[in-house]
Amino acid sequence: LLQMAGPLHLLGTMYRQVKQALTNLSRLFGLLDEPLDVQDRDNAIALQPARASVRFAAVHFGYDPRREILHGIDFDIAPGHTVAVVGHSGSGKSTLARLLYRFYDVQAGSVELNGQDIRDYQQASLRRAIAIVPQDTVLFNDSILYNIQYGRPSASREEVEQAARAAHIHDFIVSLPDGYDTQVGERGLKLSGGEKQRVAIARALLKNPSLLIFDEATSALDSKSEKAIQAELDRLSQGRTTLVIAHRLSTVMNADQILVMDQGRIIERGRHAELLAKGDHYAHMWQLQQEQKDQASQQRV
Ligand code: ADP
Ligand code: MG
Repeated sequence: LLQMAGPLHLLGTMYRQVKQALTNLSRLFGLLDEPLDVQDRDNAIALQPARASVRFAAVHFGYDPRREILHGIDFDIAPGHTVAVVGHSGSGKSTLARLLYRFYDVQAGSVELNGQDIRDYQQASLRRAIAIVPQDTVLFNDSILYNIQYGRPSASREEVEQAARAAHIHDFIVSLPDGYDTQVGERGLKLSGGEKQRVAIARALLKNPSLLIFDEATSALDSKSEKAIQAELDRLSQGRTTLVIAHRLSTVMNADQILVMDQGRIIERGRHAELLAKGDHYAHMWQLQQEQKDQASQQRV
């Protein structure tokens, strides 16, 4: 038995080392913050944080070059403005967000920030300037504190709690036995979808970026918490360049411009009232959602 002790101890050490390596790996891939297929150009420049302007110019893109997903996308977001994107699932909305954050490079055309092709920026500076609240938040296998503070590692505990309050998650966190030190588990699985989304929103609030992207940021929340958080998100996007991808049209009514996407194309654009008056795609979607809302409220009485 004593002869076994040495090898067993060694096995234990190896196990811990492998586990640590796996943790580091999942850190790396957890948020997809370090994509493997895009690279800084040799003369990449540092993006200066400022009020950002965005331009998509004749963008063509496919995850597989043999299957094009975006067929020539053109739009602008003026500094401080909000552009909303709506459309059926699979129409390419999230792909716009991923291209802007440069998870992938376009196949033709360009994505520009402050008039400069985003491929000309150092990735780190590009990503510091942008906060994205994604559709499916994947958290780091670490504490809640770590996951929020990731938005701005230099933030104080006070600032973290302030962001958590704004995202309506602080009270929940302090109700947990370990509070902010609570481990969220593999990919954040110990939290519900709505709780994860609030952590992601807190992280984005803390980051205080020049460009904000919400990809159906409140889709996992019930309609009451959605209203409360929507107000925070509206406040956050005031005067800040924002791209909102929305499922519920009620959240895009105040956007400076609404883009309606269908199968990788923008088929309609304008402000809410203009699009309603036009009586075409957007107006139909709006009509449909109003009817669904009416039905839901009738079922409740
Ligand atoms: P939306 O956000 O409007 O629902 P997406 O931008 O997520 O749509 O997807 C647009 C199209 O791209 C869909 O046909 C989807 O199947 C495809 N797609 C999305 N992500 C990937 C991926 N990682 N690899 C291959 N195809 C993808
Ligand atoms: Mg999507």
